[in-house]
Amino acid sequence: MLTALESEQYSRHLTLSGFGLEKQLRLKAARVLLVGAGGLGCPIGLYLAAAGVGTLGVVDSDQVERSNLQRQIAHSVEAIGQAKVDSLIQRMRSINPLLTYQAHGFAVDEDNVNDLIAQYDLIIDGTDNFATRFLLADACYLQGIPLLQGAVFEYQGQINLFAPGGSETGACYRCIFREPPSRGALAPCAEVGVLGVIPGLIGTMMAIEAVKFITGVGNALPGKMLVYNALEQTLKTIALTRDVDCPLCGDFPTIHTALQIKGLSCAVTLPDDQLISVEQAKQLLAAGAFLLDVREASEFQAGHLPQAAHLPLASIERESTEALLPDDAPVVVYCQKGMRSQVAVQSLNQLGYERVYSVVGGLEVWPGGDYRLAGAI
Ligand SMILES: [Zn+2]
Repeated sequence: MLTALESEQYSRHLTLSGFGLEKQLRLKAARVLLVGAGGLGCPIGLYLAAAGVGTLGVVDSDQVERSNLQRQIAHSVEAIGQAKVDSLIQRMRSINPLLTYQAHGFAVDEDNVNDLIAQYDLIIDGTDNFATRFLLADACYLQGIPLLQGAVFEYQGQINLFAPGGSETGACYRCIFREPPSRGALAPCAEVGVLGVIPGLIGTMMAIEAVKFITGVGNALPGKMLVYNALEQTLKTIALTRDVDCPLCGDFPTIHTALQIKGLSCAVTLPDDQLISVEQAKQLLAAGAFLLDVREASEFQAGHLPQAAHLPLASIERESTEALLPDDAPVVVYCQKGMRSQVAVQSLNQLGYERVYSVVGGLEVWPGGDYRLAGAI
């Protein structure tokens, strides 16, 4: 049953036609894990706390940064530097102190994923990287735990719900996204832009799907993908079909353990000697190194280091580099935060360039380099 306080807190659910006490008790009994306390995680966390999901876990290893506040609406200026899990749970608790909250302040990886998700009966993936998405998709499928997944990109967003059991629940994540994304598609992660309201809308729709799934109200999403486009203001539902050749859920599966796909993370790990500080970069440039900016054209136009040449990460290929890069000089590569430049250096290595270096921290740590703070340079 509900306590007097709970009955008061959820009174609009209790009087809602087709919902009522029975559905509210299902929410109270539910254990939901939110992966990622960012743009999607914030609205999902706030609405599921408000709705009364009995046990809510949040897993995230990041700290709140000022650039998060454009879309991660549960965090505040006061929380900058604080762990995102703590900041989000604090806000959720302030809306609803009647729930059990579990903070997991680490990154999900192949060593902890199975034990972590086994504690919950619905996993919600609001992360921004493919390595975690594939890992969660595999682990949830193999353990038979439902997975609600969302993604946002620029002016678009999409939602999938993968529920175990039977052909009527349609495809798994790998039926749709079997191939690892290309290097260019990887670039986004933490850096490519997204309209700040998009994760708010997609996250809110994910919270609706979570409540529907837990309570059984309405038509659940499994077997369909919801795609939203803000520029066209359209919402499409695409039916998904299970792929009999899928390596995870197909007739002859080849994936039996959830393993992290290496090299799919935003954080490409370069050898230490290819990661350089701003000081080291300046010394190389003074000695005649070539300077390359690998951000998008709009970012480059808004401001860049004076002597930099421009080649967006996704355009790094043999033809473009042969036309632009010197054969004989070292190349210093930078981007906004030092992530895309690492991917770029790795790509350039593969094209045969050896003396290429990524500036750690990117423009944001280059004195006077952050044009958003310092004005165009
Ligand atoms: Zn599949």
